[in-house]
Amino acid sequence: MLQLSIPLNFLGVIYRELRQALTDIERMFSLLDVDREVADAPGAHALAPGPAALRFDDVRFGYDPRRTILHGVSFEVPAGHTVAVVGHSGSGKSTLARLLYRFYDVQGGAIRIDGQDIRELTQSSLRAAIGIVPQDTVLFNDTLFYNIQYGRPQASRAEVEAAAAAAQLGDFVARLPDGYDTRVGERGLKLSGGEKQRVAIARALLKNPAILIFDEATSALDSKTEKAIQAQLELAAAGRTALVIAHRLSTVMNADEILVLDQGEIVERGTHLQLLARGGHYTRMWALQQQEAETRPD
Ligand code: ATP
Repeated sequence: MLQLSIPLNFLGVIYRELRQALTDIERMFSLLDVDREVADAPGAHALAPGPAALRFDDVRFGYDPRRTILHGVSFEVPAGHTVAVVGHSGSGKSTLARLLYRFYDVQGGAIRIDGQDIRELTQSSLRAAIGIVPQDTVLFNDTLFYNIQYGRPQASRAEVEAAAAAAQLGDFVARLPDGYDTRVGERGLKLSGGEKQRVAIARALLKNPAILIFDEATSALDSKTEKAIQAQLELAAAGRTALVIAHRLSTVMNADEILVLDQGEIVERGTHLQLLARGGHYTRMWALQQQEAETRPD
């Protein structure tokens, strides 16, 4: 039995290693946005540097031609402003972000950056201008340093450490015996949701994009972490044009404008106070979230 169990164990280890390697490759592809949906148009040009004002103009889209997800969505994010999108699960919030990053092309209307239709731009220049803080940050089975430097692989050690400090990872790293050389990911140190998000923010700060997409995690958080995320978001969005996909209204109270999306249509828009004064969808969502917050153990 012993004789048999050793090779079987060995096979198990090989299997796990192989599976992990495949997962890493899969995740890397999703991070590098190697996708098959869109290609550069003939004569595509690079995004001309500018203030990075965003405009969605009557955007229509469906993943499946038989089911429209966005029914003519129009809004602007003036350069340097923050616009948040809120709405029930499945209302199409993340789809807006995917279209801006051009994972898919719009089927009607247009998305423009400083007046340039993103379908006429090279994908490399479009994506260089956009930083994403995703819902669930992918960590490679490598050092913390490597994971942050991924935001801009040419960055120096000092630049990586400065970005980490700005994302408030400094104290956390200082407590690790191996500091930035600590291995993280599935085979290393497991980071909490908040720590992972700070790695994503450090990556985004290192990339220093004109446009930021912040896709807030859906997971339930205690109010302390929620406040920390709000502060993180404001830090990452400062001086950039930011589109925030929000699940907790409290994290986007200070946005310049909040759009309420319902079944692929903007049904309300305004600042937090303007929306509360309307007594509509937003007010109901706010009341519900306040109630939930009051019943939380913390
Ligand atoms: P959540 O708050 O749960 O993240 P959301 O508002 O961001 O939701 P989207 O992810 O934009 O919603 O999805 C909008 C709709 O599109 C949903 O009904 C979803 O099932 C559908 N959808 C999303 N991605 C795909 C896809 N790749 N293929 C087909 N349908 C999709």
